[in-house]
Parts: sequence; C-alpha cells; structure tokens
Amino acid sequence: TKPTILVTGGAGYIGSHAVLALRDAGYGVVVIDNLVTGFDWAVPADVPLVRGDIADQPLVEATLRDHDITAIMHFAGSVVVPESVENPLKYYHNNSAKTRDLIESAVRTGVKHFIFSSTAATYGTPDVEKVREDTPQRPINPYGMSKLMTEYMLRDVAAAHPMNFCALRYFNVAGADPQGRTGQSTAGATHLIKVAVEAALGKRAGVSIFGTDFATPDGTGVRDYIHVTDLAAAHLLALEALIADPARSHLLNCGYGRGFSVLEVLDAVDRATNNPVQRTMAPRRAGDPAALISDNSAILATFPWQPAHADLDQIVAHALAWERKLGDRA
Ligand code: UDP
Repeated sequence: TKPTILVTGGAGYIGSHAVLALRDAGYGVVVIDNLVTGFDWAVPADVPLVRGDIADQPLVEATLRDHDITAIMHFAGSVVVPESVENPLKYYHNNSAKTRDLIESAVRTGVKHFIFSSTAATYGTPDVEKVREDTPQRPINPYGMSKLMTEYMLRDVAAAHPMNFCALRYFNVAGADPQGRTGQSTAGATHLIKVAVEAALGKRAGVSIFGTDFATPDGTGVRDYIHVTDLAAAHLLALEALIADPARSHLLNCGYGRGFSVLEVLDAVDRATNNPVQRTMAPRRAGDPAALISDNSAILATFPWQPAHADLDQIVAHALAWERKLGDRA
C-alpha cells in the first residue's frame, strides 16, 4: 500500500489539483490549510482537512505523527508578485519564515521527502532566451526572493538530515482540472489567464495590459504558461523519484519551453468565447520581467514526464469552464 502524503495548501489552487492526482494514484492524502485563500469545498470529502497554520508546530507535528506521513508537498504560501513588492515582510513571513518552521517539524518527525513549490521568479530577469536550472538566480521581487530562500534552506537541511527534496520551479500555472473537479477560485486574482476569463464572463470590466514597451516581439510580457494538471503530474513523478533514490534531491524547472505574450493569451480567450474582452493599455507593473520561458530539458530527462495539456487553447478552455462553474461562489 502506498504512503500517506501531507499536502500543505491543499485547499488552494495548485494544491487541490495535487490532492486529486495523489488520490487518483492511490496515495493516502492529508491536507493542512489555514483557508485564508483556500476553500474547504476544494478538498474532497474523503481527504482529512486539518484547518491550521503550517508554522503551528504542535499541530503540524501531531498531524505528521498521527498519519505516519512519509512526504510533504508544500504549496501553502503567498503568490502575488505586486503584493510582495508592496508588502515584502508578508512574503518573508508566509513563504520563508513559516516554511522554515514547517521544515523543522518535518525533520523532527522523520519525514523523508519534501516537495516544494518554487518559482521561475527566482531567476529575476534572465539574460538568456530560455532559462536553465543553472541560470543565475537573481530575483527582482520579494516573492521570488522568499522562494529562493526556501530552496537554500532545503539544500542545507537535506545535506544535514535524512531528508531529500525536490524544488519545482513553476513557470506560469493556469487552467483547471479537465474533469471540472477543482480550479482557481480565489477572488481578487491578479494572474493573467484568471483575470481574462473573469472578464470574458462579465465578472470584471476588462483586462489591463501591464506594459506594451517590453523588448518582446509585440511589446507585451511573455510567459511560459503551463497547465495545472501537468504540473500536478510532475509532483507525483517527483515523489516517486525521491522515494526511489533517497540520496538524491532535485531542482527542476517546470514549464513547456515556449512562451506566449499577453496579447496572444487575450486572443486565445477571445477565440474561446467569440467575444472580445476589453483591453486597456497600462504601465508596467513593479517587479515584472519582460520574458520568462523555461528550458525544460532537465525535467524531461529526469522524470518520465509527458505533458498532456501543452496547448494554450486547452488551458484557456479549462480555465473558462471552471470560471463558469464557479459562478459567484468564490
Ligand atoms: N498581466 C497583464 N494584465 C493582468 C495580469 C497580468 O498584462 O491583468 C501580464 C503581466 O504583466 C505579465 C503576464 O501578464 O507580463 C503574466 O502575469 P501574471 O500576473 O499572470 O504572472 P507572473 O508572471 O507575474 O507570475
């Protein structure tokens, strides 16, 4: 029988997709979530939900022991780049300090494997077209720095204690469960595809294009959008790899290795609804690099990862389907 995994932030966007992937694959799953940005209804009824904070060490350690947890998938955190520029200490608290306490609880209770949601934002403004794992990490916003600090902690902890880790550096995650079981539900979203599908359904007036004078083909920001279900699948493969070789840790980009501009994304949303979203030119947003595209050859060589949804129209279609289903619920 397969081990039991603790998923922090399992009531949130990416975490809830990982919970489904683990459960579908026959793993035991326990979720811990403080429900600040997550939703209890996003967690399947047969998955235990511990409502609490990842830095509440008595609670976390009791959970780890009671469920005999082998591995932690750590999604809980704050993810909005402009907010991190406004309120850096929130990011160093939620993402760095609290994760430090979570890692300590993991070490104390003998958790063997740790899978961490890192980010392409750790690279800052790369001077290469496609970012490799050995491209220098020079974050240009506190969000990226708060995640990079956690990568450093994991590297040092894995060297000192019997725990290995995989940090997946996500590029731009979007879309929703193809079966419509979960999706991106947090209100007040700032991420492009979420904002655009909200606009397409009349939940907001339109979309602001933050910067039209970047050094990119059409002047708008270019990102490597990856379907959340392919990302969840990568987490399962990471778990299997960590179990198979406890002496080895991994730091891997998770993207498709191609980019789309803001205009290309908005065109895809317009195509999906046959109804153009209103676009407004706006100044650049603080902390935004021009382009961020992965070189994904390392993850492809390390895991048997076969992306099944590497298609912008499909990502948009699934995001739109979830947004419709969500209605006014969140
Ligand atoms: N963006 C935009 N309008 C929006 C939200 C985002 O023009 O309402 C742009 C943003 O400047 C960047 C890209 O879309 O070039 C992706 O931004 P997002 O916030 O989705 O993710 P990030 O790359 O900042 O993590």
